[in-house]
Amino acid sequence: MGYRAPVTDIAFSLKHAAGLKSALAEGLYGDLDEETVDSVLAEAGRFASDVIAPLNSVGDKFGTPFKDGNVTTPPGWKDAYTSWAAAGWNGLAAPADWGGQELPHAVNAACIEMWNSASMAFGIGPVLTMAAIDALHAYGSDRLKQEYLSKLISGEWMGTMQLTEPQAGSDVGALRSKAERATDGSYRITGSKIFITYGEHDLTDNIIHFVLARLPDAPPGTKGISLFLVPKVMSDGTRNDVRAHSVEHKLGIHASPTCTMVYGDKGGAVGFLIGEEHRGMACMFTMMNRARLAVGLQGVGIAERATQQALAYARERKQGAAGAIIAYPDVKRMLLTMRALTGAARAICYATGIAIDRSLRAKSEAARKTAHERASLLTPVAKAFSTDIGTEVASLGVQVHGGMGYVEETGAAQHYRDARIAAIYEGTNGIQALDLVVRKVPLEGGKIVTLYIDELQRTVKSVRSSNAPAFGETATRLGEAVDSLERATRWLLAHKSSDAALAGATPYLRLFGNAAGGCMLAEEALASLRAGDGTGRTMLARFFAENLAVQATGLERSVTQGADSITSAQAALAE
Ligand SMILES: Cc1cc2nc3c(=O)[nH]c(=O)nc-3n(C[C@H](O)[C@H](O)[C@H](O)COP(=O)(O)OP(=O)(O)OC[C@H]3O[C@@H](n4cnc5c(N)ncnc54)[C@H](O)[C@@H]3O)c2cc1C
Repeated sequence: MGYRAPVTDIAFSLKHAAGLKSALAEGLYGDLDEETVDSVLAEAGRFASDVIAPLNSVGDKFGTPFKDGNVTTPPGWKDAYTSWAAAGWNGLAAPADWGGQELPHAVNAACIEMWNSASMAFGIGPVLTMAAIDALHAYGSDRLKQEYLSKLISGEWMGTMQLTEPQAGSDVGALRSKAERATDGSYRITGSKIFITYGEHDLTDNIIHFVLARLPDAPPGTKGISLFLVPKVMSDGTRNDVRAHSVEHKLGIHASPTCTMVYGDKGGAVGFLIGEEHRGMACMFTMMNRARLAVGLQGVGIAERATQQALAYARERKQGAAGAIIAYPDVKRMLLTMRALTGAARAICYATGIAIDRSLRAKSEAARKTAHERASLLTPVAKAFSTDIGTEVASLGVQVHGGMGYVEETGAAQHYRDARIAAIYEGTNGIQALDLVVRKVPLEGGKIVTLYIDELQRTVKSVRSSNAPAFGETATRLGEAVDSLERATRWLLAHKSSDAALAGATPYLRLFGNAAGGCMLAEEALASLRAGDGTGRTMLARFFAENLAVQATGLERSVTQGADSITSAQAALAE
C-alpha cells in the first residue's frame, strides 16, 4: 500500500503542539508566514507520496548489490534522489550564504518525517548529509567550506558519518583508526570502520566522509579523538585511499547500503581536520544531535506509514459477525494506540526542532542558551521515545493484519523490519536514556527539566479549565502522569549518576515521553476546540490520557523502587 503524507496533521502539530505558530508570530523567522510553511509542507508531501514512496518496496527487494568495490542502488533511486536534490530539499534548513534556504529546522523536521515515511532506506542518506553540513558549517575552515559546503547543501555530493569500529560502538572512545600529520597540513588516515550508512553508492559522483580518528600523541578515550573530512574523490579527480570492503545483509532498510570502510591500502587516505586536533567529539556532537532528532523522525515516519496501512486494512478486512474488523474494540484499541503514539512522538520531535531554531535565532544570548538547553533535554527523548514507538506501532501494524501481516505481500512486515534499526543506531536507546538521566536532567542543577515540567503542568490546568466534556478524565490522568514525572525527576536528581539511577534510565525516558507526548496531544486538542473543530483530536488526547499516560505511575515505580531488584539480581542471570 502507498503513503499519503498527512500534511494537515503535520502542519497542525507543528503550529499548535510544537509552537511554530507563536514562533512565527514573534518574528523568530523574520517575515516567514504560515502560508509559505503550508505550501512547503504540501510540496514535500507530494514528493514523498508520489516519487519516493513507490520505491520503498522496490528498494526492499533489490537491496544494494556490491561488486568490485561498487554499490548499485535499486532501480529508480538515482533519478528520485537527483530530482529530490534538484528541488532543493537537501538544503531546506541550510545556511542561505552557501545555497541553502534557511527555513526553520522544525519545518525541515516535518519534511524529514515525510521522506522517511515514504522510505526509511531513502531518508537516512540525506539525514547524514544534513548532519555533515551542520558540522562543516560550524567547525570547518573557510577553505573546506569553499570546496565542500555548497555541494553538500545542493545534494550534488552526499556525506557520511563514521564513528563505529568493531570494538568501538557505544564506547566511541575505544576507536583505533589513525591519523598522521602530513607536511602539507593535511593528514593521512588509516584503519577501518564498520556499519557505515551510505559509505559507498552510485547516487552521487563524490561522497564526503566525516571520519573520527586518533593522532599519535592523542590522549586516551574521547578526549583524544579528532574529526576529519575525507573525500572519496580528490579535487584533481583522483580516487582517495578509501574504499568500501563489503556491504552488510540486514533485517531491514535493505536499500540503505551499510558498508565496511577501509582506509590506507596505499599508505593513507588524505584527510582534512575539522575543528581542532583532539576536539573531534565536540564537532561530532553537533552532527550527532541533528542526526538523533532525524532518527527520531524516522520512528515517527515509519509509525505513520504503518498506521495508515493498518487503518486501510482494518476498514476492508471482513471477519466474523461485525463485518470489517475495525468494528471490534480490540482492533480499535490497536489503531488508536498507533495513531496516538505517532502523534505524541511527532509533537515531541517537532518541539525539539523549534527549540533548535530558537537556540540559533532568538534575539538575546540568554534566550538562545535556554533554548539550547531545552533542545539538549528533548533530543534523547525525541530519539528514543519516537524510535521505540516506531517499532511498537509497526508491530501493532503487523498484528492488525493478522496472518497477512506476517507474510511479505502486504508490506506491513517491511515496516516492522525497517523500524527496528532506529532504536539501535545514532546511539542505542539505552545510551539515550543514560544521556537523559546523567547529563540532561541535571543541567543547571535540574532547572531546565523543572521548567519543562512546569509547562506540562500548565497544559494539564488548561485542559481542566476548558471544562470540555469530550476530554473525559484527561485532566486527571495527564495530571497524574506529570506528577509521576515530577517525582521521578526529583528522585533522579537526588540519586545523581548512581547505579540505581542508571538502572531506571529507560523507564524514566518512557515516562518523560508519555507525559510530554500526552500533554502535546492535549495542546492540539485545545487548539482544535478553540477553532470549533475539536472532535477527533480531543478523542485522541483522551484516549492517550486514559489508556497510555496511565502507565506513568508504574513507570515511576520502576524508576524509584525498581533499581535494587536489578542491581542485586546477578544470581537470576547466572548460567
Ligand atoms: C544498519 C546500521 C547502520 C549504521 N550506520 C552507522 C553509521 O553511518 N556510522 C557509524 O559510525 N555507525 C553506524 N552504525 C553503528 C551503530 O551506531 C552502532 O551499532 C550502535 O551505536 C551500537 O554500537 P554496537 O553495535 O557496538 O553495540 P554495543 O555498544 O556493543 O551495545 C550492545 C548493547 O549494550 C548496551 N550498552 C553498551 N554500552 C552501554 C553502557 N555504557 N551502558 C548501558 N548499556 C550499554 C547498548 O545499549 C546495547 O543494547 C550503524 C549500525 C547499523 C546496524
